[in-house]
Amino acid sequence: MSVLVCPKCGRTDDEVEFIDAFCKYDYPVRLKLPDRMEFEQCTRCQMVRLQGEWIPYNAKRLSKYLLSKCKGDYDSADYDVDRQVAVFVMSGSGAKIERPIPLDLKKTICQQCSRMSGGYYQAIIQLRGDPLRVLGKGEMLVKRLENRTFISKSEETDGGLDIYVGDSKAVVAVVTALGLKTFITKKLVGRDQGKRLYRTTFLIRL
Ligand SMILES: [Zn+2]
Ligand SMILES: [Zn+2]
Repeated sequence: MSVLVCPKCGRTDDEVEFIDAFCKYDYPVRLKLPDRMEFEQCTRCQMVRLQGEWIPYNAKRLSKYLLSKCKGDYDSADYDVDRQVAVFVMSGSGAKIERPIPLDLKKTICQQCSRMSGGYYQAIIQLRGDPLRVLGKGEMLVKRLENRTFISKSEETDGGLDIYVGDSKAVVAVVTALGLKTFITKKLVGRDQGKRLYRTTFLIRL
């Protein structure tokens, strides 16, 4: 049996898979691919930034995005995150072509985590009234809010419980969903790059 030698890299078909006269890495096809893909990943919560938006790490979505940057004469494409290799099934020949595309996850801290560690908060929920009901409602609020944002701290005061929350829109959504009556006050606390920064207090009597 004769041995095939790839005219581009010199490897033989004992070493690497062949398609016609070329190894599968050098088989001539029309493909335009990114050299590498870079995403930011938060070292604390593992969230990944995709097109400006922080999302939970999701290999499928990252692959889909990466493949949307590839062009060429192929019918279908797949990206193997573990091997960091894109596999293309070429039109016509049906040949399976593999190309390495390194996936770089640049370590960073997302805005939410940096705010959380800095004790940042946009809203305070003040629960007042019967101590048992305050504690019960407080726990429920914290649980629901943690699905949407973060809690900077939660503090018992003489009159009840104060919960410091990262995002005031999340508070509005949760108290509305629970049908809680709130008394809202807004205070201008400063500016960030020309934008007014408010802190909102939600007073809830139970
Ligand atoms: Zn080759
Ligand atoms: Zn984070």
